[in-house]
Amino acid sequence: MTIDDLTPLLLAGNDPEPVLERQASGSSPFVFTCDHYGRLIPRALGDLGLDDGERQRHIAWDIGIAGVAEQVSAALNAHLIAQRYSRLVIDCNRPPIAASSIPPISEATTIPGNQGIAQDAANERRRLIFEPYHRRIAEVLDRRVRDGKPTIIVSLHSFTPIYTGVARPWHIGTLYHRDHRLPKLLLRELRAEPELVVGDNQPYAVSDATDYTIPVHGEARGLINTGIEIRQDLITDESGQRQWAERLIRILRKLEPELRALI
Ligand SMILES: [Zn+2]
Repeated sequence: MTIDDLTPLLLAGNDPEPVLERQASGSSPFVFTCDHYGRLIPRALGDLGLDDGERQRHIAWDIGIAGVAEQVSAALNAHLIAQRYSRLVIDCNRPPIAASSIPPISEATTIPGNQGIAQDAANERRRLIFEPYHRRIAEVLDRRVRDGKPTIIVSLHSFTPIYTGVARPWHIGTLYHRDHRLPKLLLRELRAEPELVVGDNQPYAVSDATDYTIPVHGEARGLINTGIEIRQDLITDESGQRQWAERLIRILRKLEPELRALI
């Protein structure tokens, strides 16, 4: 028996790379991240013990946000860095030490493939999915800073309309912690649209314990940043994704000069 027999590779064969990029040489100051873009599961992990229905629910990924992110990135010629694997394999917006990094339970669903996971197996998921994604974001940001490119980080997410039985009224929310510059402007623009219910740090706020991308890549570098959460029932289909992408494109284009003046 060889070492390889004892420790089969988590990602192998036809498993795609975790990092997906669009407009990598885009001219926009906006850099979009999408931690919960995809819902792939490495072949070595099978289906994590979940049926098809569970693997398509919000617990597995951010429903609808991939379509929005692709359109916004293309229209603004802005770099998008996204992650293809399910948040149930490893959540790329959680510190790896958090209990919810590889969740044994998500909302009310037990994830059989995550029960009693060995430290080695957890480390392997981190090394092959979490780390390449965040390393790539860091490389891109390092290079932009070196090249003197203005950079604004927008972390795109979507949220389930009902969580643990409680309905969420907001259509869209800005999420932030220490840096209020972009959220303040974004709230002003979103609240100018009378049909929208806008969340200010709703349905949740950013924190160091429950988030990774904004604290590490935005706040620690002093880059202007925000999270954006869109309610999933509004972007389930293509027309909803297009409509919400168009709204974000219009607003971010309008805000760009104001933001450049702050950099
Ligand atoms: Zn998300």
